[in-house]
Amino acid sequence: MGKFQLMALPYAMDALGTVISKQTLEFHHGKHLAAYVNNLNGLLDGSGFEEASLEDIVCKSSGGMQNNAGQIMNHEMYFAQFTGNQSKPAPAGALAEAIKRDFGSFESFKDEFQKKGATLFGSGWVWLSADKDGKLIITQETNAGNPIQKGLKPLLTFDVWEHAYYLDYQNRRPDHLSALWQIIDWKVIESRYNF
Ligand code: MN
Repeated sequence: MGKFQLMALPYAMDALGTVISKQTLEFHHGKHLAAYVNNLNGLLDGSGFEEASLEDIVCKSSGGMQNNAGQIMNHEMYFAQFTGNQSKPAPAGALAEAIKRDFGSFESFKDEFQKKGATLFGSGWVWLSADKDGKLIITQETNAGNPIQKGLKPLLTFDVWEHAYYLDYQNRRPDHLSALWQIIDWKVIESRYNF
């Protein structure tokens, strides 16, 4: 057993239906994320980060250690934000107000977010984050990047690595991104924003 553990999914492997199939989840969580956890555990000895938090490793290490730690943090946020039983298709409260303020409308926000995901060249992640004043920003992060490395607070992310969608959507990344809104658990995203 290493220091870092593979997160348990908060839903069944078949809970996300056709948006993310059981087969994709089994590979994505059980193979890809598990490999990042094993890789990071294998890199800790002698690194100087043996006692560090995941966030510190993501922000202060480099190379393979930073990449594997980043992928763990990114996937933990990614998998935790979904639900197979969506009770609210849009955010409410302070987050809803901030989206309207900073993007004009929820629809405009979704359009920009999807576009930034579709146009990210190669592998990476598109993120919604808040800055220290609560202002919302969408960023593209390549490979294992996470907005905390820029001092932002990450709220929502779509994984645009091919392993996230290729079994279900092949090359149709935009179709995958537009389907993901059906399974976002906005209660989770709201709780990340309320700080
Ligand atoms: Mn992934």
